[in-house]
Amino acid sequence: MMTCVWCGKTRKNSRYARVVWDDLDSTWYRCGECGSLMILPRPSGKLIRKVYENDYLNKRLQPHTGVDSRIRYAKEYRPTVFAEYELSLADLRIKKTGVRSILDFGCADGVFLEFCKKHFNANTKLYGTDISEHLLGQAKDNGWNVVPLGDLEKLGRTFDLITLWDVIEHLDDPGAVITRLKKLLSPRGQILLETPRVGALSEQFGEHWPHLLPVQHLSLASKEGMQKFARRMWLMIEKHVSFGGNAPGSVVPQPYKGAYDRLAKKLDFGDVQLVTLKKKS
Ligand SMILES: [Zn+2]
Repeated sequence: MMTCVWCGKTRKNSRYARVVWDDLDSTWYRCGECGSLMILPRPSGKLIRKVYENDYLNKRLQPHTGVDSRIRYAKEYRPTVFAEYELSLADLRIKKTGVRSILDFGCADGVFLEFCKKHFNANTKLYGTDISEHLLGQAKDNGWNVVPLGDLEKLGRTFDLITLWDVIEHLDDPGAVITRLKKLLSPRGQILLETPRVGALSEQFGEHWPHLLPVQHLSLASKEGMQKFARRMWLMIEKHVSFGGNAPGSVVPQPYKGAYDRLAKKLDFGDVQLVTLKKKS
């Protein structure tokens, strides 16, 4: 038994799937309360650090077809990634104006900051942080204002928008991180989470669901798990949508992909969720 990092309940977990990739081996369990999935036993801190060490973005660290993290950071893929950000912010009703400061938590090489510079007002202050020193160095070389994870509070400022794109599922204790980030929110600030969503679609993929990444993804939230998580964090859900992020063009070709994506969003069966969280006023 392990306490679910999303709903906070300690229930009997049922075995869901075993995913093995090279020397990485993980067994996924389902929370008996909210249906979220988690790796048990948790990989050691040493193993987790090893996975993120050096050149993380250039490694192919996943066994499933269709999704490859390397693509995401390739320069030629920028327009696609930027179009995704644009769509996500529109879905979440985040306006271009009025956002004075942004912190991208898990900024990697600065891809989202690059988008923000084009998308938001010129005077919007942009900051990034990442667990990987290597990536922080890269982001810094790219000209971005980055700080090590431990130094966020030293900035002595708050943010109107804190973003975690594909980050929270990598964290051992999402609650601890959100509790910390909550203190860095301006009074009307929002935390944006993008993370896979366990649900009807992931069930269809079963053990082949591309988000069951050994060691990297530690816990994947269901819709209910995310709702209970927000409540536990004393945060209000401002907006909560899903999209069919799991059907890259290579798996579902156009024009079907467009129709599929729209349907997934409309009927809310997408296997990626987007959430904005606000402090209770
Ligand atoms: Zn749960």
